[in-house]
Amino acid sequence: MFYVKQTINDSLEIKVEIHDDNVFTTCPDCGVEVCVDISELFSDGESDLYGTALFCAECSKSRLEEIL
Ligand SMILES: [Zn+2]
Repeated sequence: MFYVKQTINDSLEIKVEIHDDNVFTTCPDCGVEVCVDISELFSDGESDLYGTALFCAECSKSRLEEIL
């Protein structure tokens, strides 16, 4: 089991188990929340927590259309 841990104050600490459906990021273009399966994302061996951004489906589609 992996989890994130955050100390709120001296008497409160929260731990949340990490699953494939409870990790999120925000699209760098529009700011919408995007659910991320981090095991899949990081399986390429190149992505990392700080240098990787994920676009939402709409922004991904727009970017693809601009390229094509
Ligand atoms: Zn977006």
